[in-house]
Amino acid sequence: MLSFLLIFMGSYGLILYTLQTFIYRKIKLIYKFIYQTKASKREEFYYKNILPQKSIDEVREDVESWAEQRKEEIEMLQQNEAYRKEFLQNLSHELKTPIFAIQGYVDTLLNGALDNTDVNKKFLQSTSRNVDRLVNLVDDLDEITKLEMGEQLLFKDSFVVQELLKEVYESLSIMADEKEIRCLIKKGCELPLSVFADKEKIRQVLINLVDNSIKYGKQNGTIESSFYKVDGATVLVEISDDGAGISEEHLHRIFERFYRTDLARSRKIGGSGLGLSICKHIIEAHGQTIHVRSKIDVGSTFGFTLQSRKD
Ligand code: ADP
Repeated sequence: MLSFLLIFMGSYGLILYTLQTFIYRKIKLIYKFIYQTKASKREEFYYKNILPQKSIDEVREDVESWAEQRKEEIEMLQQNEAYRKEFLQNLSHELKTPIFAIQGYVDTLLNGALDNTDVNKKFLQSTSRNVDRLVNLVDDLDEITKLEMGEQLLFKDSFVVQELLKEVYESLSIMADEKEIRCLIKKGCELPLSVFADKEKIRQVLINLVDNSIKYGKQNGTIESSFYKVDGATVLVEISDDGAGISEEHLHRIFERFYRTDLARSRKIGGSGLGLSICKHIIEAHGQTIHVRSKIDVGSTFGFTLQSRKD
């Protein structure tokens, strides 16, 4: 009886031990796949001492959380891939238009138009306009890449935002005059407001917004800027025009790189489609926000916040 009991217990223990070793060897293999790295001393210790104490349920949880993490990684990679493809597609499209135009003008000039005094200067001017467009595109791309890589440092300082806007109005006055557009500061918003920001970067934002308001504004229209102290810490700047406006379907996408409405796509106006995206990057780098309100044929208002001057 005793020997039977001993043999039974001995075999039970042996079978249990073999089974456990077998199962944990398999589980260890799974962990090795999950972690992918060569086991360090610490991991070896983990495999030897901690892992065997884990219940199958705990192991399942570990594997599930690993699978979830991987799924997210894969989704992100797929998104990035789609983003990259779209970016390249847009970029080549943007480059093609001016390059083909330049090619066309240069070919026509070489094929005889150079000696035709009626057209040669006009063709050269068109070539030059397209070269400018290429240069602008490359500059904008350069800027956006630096902003996206976080390479652009902000040099913050205090300045009166209305003064900066007046300078921007002045620098774009020739463009505005051509369309007989009046550039104003809204009544009641003249009280100087000091902000704490990178002045040159904010100048760039204002130039882009006012430039757009002129480009998409109507002949003889008005651009009005307003400035409000939202609370002790924030100033709101708004640039409004009474131009073409943007329809609702486009509104939520216009801050995306290269995004343009149909109107701008008609190519008569419009730049690289990077302007608003650059504005968004600059404002967000300041920890602030930018937004738009617009209605077709009524006009658009672009607004952004800035930090009030530090006292
Ligand atoms: P673009 O270089 O084409 O002007 P932006 O990024 O500055 O590119 O603007 C993106 C698009 O948003 C423009 O192509 C235009 O369709 C639309 N948009 C921007 N500002 C205005 C505005 N003030 N009025 C109407 N449409 C605008």
